[in-house]
Amino acid sequence: MVYVKQARHIPVCLECGDQIRYGRSDKKFCCDECRTRNFNERAKKSRVFKRRILKVLYRNYEVLENLIKADVDSADLMSLTSLGFVPTIMTSFRKRGKHEECGCFDIRYIRTGTRIYSISKIENFD
Ligand SMILES: [Zn+2]
Repeated sequence: MVYVKQARHIPVCLECGDQIRYGRSDKKFCCDECRTRNFNERAKKSRVFKRRILKVLYRNYEVLENLIKADVDSADLMSLTSLGFVPTIMTSFRKRGKHEECGCFDIRYIRTGTRIYSISKIENFD
Protein backbone atom coordinates (compact mmCIF):
# COMPACT_ATOMS: atom_id res chain seq x y z
CA MET A 1 0.00 0.00 0.00
CA VAL A 2 1.28 3.45 -0.94
CA TYR A 3 0.08 6.51 0.90
CA VAL A 4 0.39 9.82 -0.88
CA LYS A 5 0.85 12.63 1.53
CA GLN A 6 -1.81 15.28 0.81
CA ALA A 7 -0.49 18.79 0.49
CA ARG A 8 -2.19 21.20 2.87
CA HIS A 9 -4.90 23.06 1.02
CA ILE A 10 -3.89 26.69 0.71
CA PRO A 11 -6.78 28.96 -0.36
CA VAL A 12 -6.19 31.40 -3.20
CA CYS A 13 -7.46 34.96 -3.57
CA LEU A 14 -10.57 35.09 -5.81
CA GLU A 15 -9.33 38.34 -7.29
CA CYS A 16 -5.60 38.04 -7.93
CA GLY A 17 -5.06 34.29 -7.50
CA ASP A 18 -2.33 34.70 -4.89
CA GLN A 19 -2.22 32.21 -2.08
CA ILE A 20 -3.80 33.35 1.16
CA ARG A 21 -1.25 32.34 3.74
CA TYR A 22 -2.74 33.85 6.86
CA GLY A 23 -6.13 34.47 8.41
CA ARG A 24 -9.23 32.29 8.58
CA SER A 25 -9.31 29.27 6.28
CA ASP A 26 -12.48 30.56 4.57
CA LYS A 27 -10.92 33.91 3.62
CA LYS A 28 -11.62 34.70 -0.03
CA PHE A 29 -9.29 37.61 -0.67
CA CYS A 30 -5.66 38.28 0.15
CA CYS A 31 -6.19 41.97 1.00
CA ASP A 32 -8.78 44.73 1.26
CA GLU A 33 -7.83 46.08 -2.16
CA CYS A 34 -8.65 42.73 -3.81
CA ARG A 35 -11.91 42.43 -1.89
CA THR A 36 -12.98 45.96 -2.92
CA ARG A 37 -11.96 45.42 -6.55
CA ASN A 38 -13.92 42.15 -6.67
CA PHE A 39 -16.99 43.79 -5.11
CA ASN A 40 -16.86 46.71 -7.55
CA GLU A 41 -16.51 44.44 -10.57
CA ARG A 42 -19.46 42.31 -9.51
CA ALA A 43 -21.54 45.44 -8.87
CA LYS A 44 -20.59 46.75 -12.31
CA LYS A 45 -21.52 43.46 -14.00
CA SER A 46 -24.86 43.55 -12.21
CA ARG A 47 -25.49 47.14 -13.32
CA VAL A 48 -24.60 46.29 -16.95
CA PHE A 49 -26.89 43.24 -16.85
CA LYS A 50 -29.80 45.24 -15.42
CA ARG A 51 -29.29 48.03 -17.95
CA ARG A 52 -29.34 45.47 -20.78
CA ILE A 53 -32.62 43.94 -19.52
CA LEU A 54 -34.19 47.39 -19.10
CA LYS A 55 -33.20 48.32 -22.64
CA VAL A 56 -34.99 45.19 -23.94
CA LEU A 57 -38.04 45.97 -21.80
CA TYR A 58 -38.24 49.54 -23.13
CA ARG A 59 -37.88 48.26 -26.69
CA ASN A 60 -40.63 45.65 -26.09
CA TYR A 61 -42.83 48.38 -24.59
CA GLU A 62 -42.32 50.60 -27.61
CA VAL A 63 -43.30 47.75 -29.98
CA LEU A 64 -46.39 46.91 -27.91
CA GLU A 65 -47.41 50.54 -27.57
CA ASN A 66 -47.16 51.03 -31.34
CA LEU A 67 -49.44 48.00 -31.83
CA ILE A 68 -51.99 49.50 -29.45
CA LYS A 69 -51.79 52.90 -31.20
CA ALA A 70 -52.32 51.17 -34.57
CA ASP A 71 -55.30 49.26 -33.13
CA VAL A 72 -53.57 45.94 -33.72
CA ASP A 73 -54.83 43.35 -31.26
CA SER A 74 -52.92 40.32 -32.48
CA ALA A 75 -49.44 39.85 -33.95
CA ASP A 76 -47.21 36.91 -34.72
CA LEU A 77 -43.99 36.57 -32.78
CA MET A 78 -41.88 36.24 -35.93
CA SER A 79 -42.73 39.74 -37.14
CA LEU A 80 -42.50 41.15 -33.64
CA THR A 81 -39.04 39.65 -33.25
CA SER A 82 -37.95 41.32 -36.46
CA LEU A 83 -39.04 44.62 -34.89
CA GLY A 84 -36.74 43.97 -31.95
CA PHE A 85 -39.32 42.46 -29.60
CA VAL A 86 -37.84 39.83 -27.27
CA PRO A 87 -40.70 37.51 -26.18
CA THR A 88 -38.83 35.99 -23.22
CA ILE A 89 -38.27 39.31 -21.44
CA MET A 90 -41.25 40.65 -19.51
CA THR A 91 -42.18 42.23 -16.21
CA SER A 92 -44.99 39.86 -15.27
CA PHE A 93 -46.19 36.38 -16.14
CA ARG A 94 -49.29 34.51 -15.14
CA LYS A 95 -50.63 31.17 -16.28
CA ARG A 96 -54.37 31.44 -16.85
CA GLY A 97 -55.71 28.05 -17.84
CA LYS A 98 -54.19 27.32 -21.23
CA HIS A 99 -53.14 30.93 -21.71
CA GLU A 100 -50.01 32.74 -20.69
CA GLU A 101 -50.69 36.29 -19.64
CA CYS A 102 -47.57 38.40 -19.95
CA GLY A 103 -46.91 41.96 -18.97
CA CYS A 104 -44.53 44.71 -19.95
CA PHE A 105 -44.98 47.40 -17.31
CA ASP A 106 -48.63 48.51 -17.73
CA ILE A 107 -49.26 46.59 -20.97
CA ARG A 108 -50.75 43.09 -20.83
CA TYR A 109 -51.02 40.51 -23.57
CA ILE A 110 -51.75 36.84 -24.03
CA ARG A 111 -48.94 34.78 -25.49
CA THR A 112 -49.22 31.52 -27.40
CA GLY A 113 -46.29 29.65 -28.95
CA THR A 114 -46.48 31.68 -32.14
CA ARG A 115 -48.32 34.92 -31.43
CA ILE A 116 -49.57 37.45 -28.92
CA TYR A 117 -53.05 38.90 -28.69
CA SER A 118 -55.39 40.89 -26.44
CA ILE A 119 -52.76 43.59 -26.17
CA SER A 120 -54.00 46.30 -23.85
CA LYS A 121 -52.91 48.81 -21.28
CA ILE A 122 -54.10 48.15 -17.79
CA GLU A 123 -55.98 51.01 -16.23
CA ASN A 124 -56.22 49.62 -12.71
CA PHE A 125 -52.83 49.33 -11.02
CA ASP A 126 -53.99 47.63 -7.83
ZN1 LIG B 1 -5.59 39.22 -3.98
